[in-house]
Amino acid sequence: MNDKCCPRCEHQSILRPRGFSDQAIASLVSWGEMEKKVVGLPLCDDCHSELRDALIENLRVATEKELQIGRAKNNRAS
Ligand SMILES: [Zn+2]
Repeated sequence: MNDKCCPRCEHQSILRPRGFSDQAIASLVSWGEMEKKVVGLPLCDDCHSELRDALIENLRVATEKELQIGRAKNNRAS
């Protein structure tokens, strides 16, 4: 069996290398979603979907904030 202990959640699982971009990894580390020691290590499916969800959620929030800033600027201009 290929089951190993996941370095992030410490559950026994099948681990695979995860293709997050350097920018995504830096963000995940700064949000505390991923520890620095885990960067570059294979992770389990659960951790992968958690990290992916965190990225999507934070991206959505950041985009909404940007839209609000954009709107506020437009209001001031008119
Ligand atoms: Zn895990």
